[in-house]
Amino acid sequence: MYKFFKDQLNHKINNHNLRTLKEYCPIEAVRVKRDDKEYLMMASNNYLGLTFDPRVIEGAVKGAQQYGTGSGGSRLVSGTFPLFTELENELAKFKNTEKALVFNTGYMANVGTISAIADKNTIIFSDALNHASIIDGCRLSKATIKAYSHCEVEELKFLIKQVDRSARKLIVTDGVFSMDGDIAPLDKLYELSREYNALLMVDDAHATGTIGNGHGTAPYFGLEKEIDIQLGTLSKSLGSVGGYVAANSTIVDYLVNTSRSFIFSTALSPADIGAALAALQIIDSDASVLERLQDNVGYMSDRLNAMGIYATSDTPIFPILIGKNEDTLAVSNYLYEAGIIGTAIRPPTVPVGESRIRLTVTAAHSKEQIDYVCQTLHTAIKELS
Ligand code: PMP
Repeated sequence: MYKFFKDQLNHKINNHNLRTLKEYCPIEAVRVKRDDKEYLMMASNNYLGLTFDPRVIEGAVKGAQQYGTGSGGSRLVSGTFPLFTELENELAKFKNTEKALVFNTGYMANVGTISAIADKNTIIFSDALNHASIIDGCRLSKATIKAYSHCEVEELKFLIKQVDRSARKLIVTDGVFSMDGDIAPLDKLYELSREYNALLMVDDAHATGTIGNGHGTAPYFGLEKEIDIQLGTLSKSLGSVGGYVAANSTIVDYLVNTSRSFIFSTALSPADIGAALAALQIIDSDASVLERLQDNVGYMSDRLNAMGIYATSDTPIFPILIGKNEDTLAVSNYLYEAGIIGTAIRPPTVPVGESRIRLTVTAAHSKEQIDYVCQTLHTAIKELS
């Protein structure tokens, strides 16, 4: 009975592509401990470094003290406590939309939203490098999926032109691409969506807190009110866990009534929502946090450039393209031995032959730490050749 699974795992081992869980003990936003040794975290999405911010911790603690540890039920049955209403109102304001709806994870928000708004009569146009949760949502919807090459607007135009004008259509894209750190051409996608009568959905998981003054891809392009569906997570810049959709009332009310990942799962806990609410308030009230992140992104970009490592970025995600799995693991291990967590990202997360170290910088890193990481990475890459 187990032979199939063992063979599959052995195949992964032979391809240097086995995944294993590693335990890290967080001691600060960017410092972790493992086996009594300290490491610098360069692989998390905690972009604003808010996971240890006393204001966010207080939000979590107060949430639990006031409303208990668990929500006890799904949102529609008994799990909507007052912090939910407050957070959803704040998210709608933050994203300039009529309403917002919190899901349990960003993954569930994508899967639950796309599978609810698209059906077998819909045609979905999806960037080839969109996140797995978008891909899974598209598959679950049973819609016809037309993937266009990464950020290739002309190709998208060619594809969308061939489709019946009256057909229901959805264009969906990551705002900031999770493994490449580049920004989707949302302005051009928006033009196409209006010209060809398609809904436009952007996944701002990595854009919230990082671009558009922290408000994401739509304001980055000056399209504050134009995008039909903006999705995000509470689990990256907002230092908590959860996902959300911000859109007009029609879409949000429709999701409340039809989105299965929203309807059939117990609501997040008061601590999660309390933390997210506190983090959201920080983005708009404490400019120093965003400034520190922007400063660090620019600094790291310059340092890598100066060392001839082409990974400059406008976002905190620095993809260090290595290629082969075993080489990528070797660089990751070198970093690890030097006290840096820089995880090897391999297929299927990225295409075969494009394995990479995905380094992320946060508002909580110091310039000295960034210098150390860039220098160590430079040596690690030289050791390969
Ligand atoms: N969308 C994108 C682009 C992501 O990178 C991720 C998480 N890596 C998600 C959605 C899922 O969000 P969550 O982790 O909150 O489930």
